[in-house]
Amino acid sequence: MKIKKGGFTLIELLVVIAIISMLAGQILPSLSTAREKGRQANCVNNLHQIGLAIEMYYQDYEDYPTWLSILCKSNTPGVGLNYLGTGKIFICLTDLNKGNKGHGNTSFPEICDIPLSKVQNSYPFYSPDTFDQNAYNYRNPSIEVCSYSYEFAPTRCKWFESSHNDTDISQADTNGDGKVTWKEAKIWQSSHGYGGQVPIVRCFWHYYNHKQKVLNLAFRDYNVFISEPEWESSSY
Ligand SMILES: [Zn+2]
Repeated sequence: MKIKKGGFTLIELLVVIAIISMLAGQILPSLSTAREKGRQANCVNNLHQIGLAIEMYYQDYEDYPTWLSILCKSNTPGVGLNYLGTGKIFICLTDLNKGNKGHGNTSFPEICDIPLSKVQNSYPFYSPDTFDQNAYNYRNPSIEVCSYSYEFAPTRCKWFESSHNDTDISQADTNGDGKVTWKEAKIWQSSHGYGGQVPIVRCFWHYYNHKQKVLNLAFRDYNVFISEPEWESSSY
């Protein structure tokens, strides 16, 4: 019986390995991009639904919600509404923390719509004053995760106060309490040349994890637009 000398030579094996790794190198990055594209589409859908809920709230209360979390059901009596179910929509699939660390922008921890204790754990340099602590009391405590930043938060907008003159500040401070909140700052921006492109909700995770643009839900017309992290410089 003739015995076949089987197997590959070392050279053949190396060539096969080289070809496989070349192909894998071409296919894998495009696969991860395709997955991220899917996650972006999911995030856009989340933002659209959040926009609808904000508008429904506005129609009912003639104001914007204090926090996104109050748009959801709550275990606390008298807190939370039924516009957005249980808040699963607040998790962006690109956010590997699943909303536990808020929106991830370390410059502005005070607009994370997660419990204040979680914000302080994730952003240890943030020491909220009494004003911000009180503002966090308006949240819905049943909602503990949120990947998005809420640009209309009732916390103090320190960057606005430090970068605008007294006239701008007194104009923006519509309730006259001597403090400009994020909501007051954004409404001021919307009437000072930023048109419909002032964001009300933002997702930074596509930028942080995949170097993609930031996804924004626009104030008033609720279209979703992309921008750099500093949206003022890319849309103004
Ligand atoms: Zn997202």
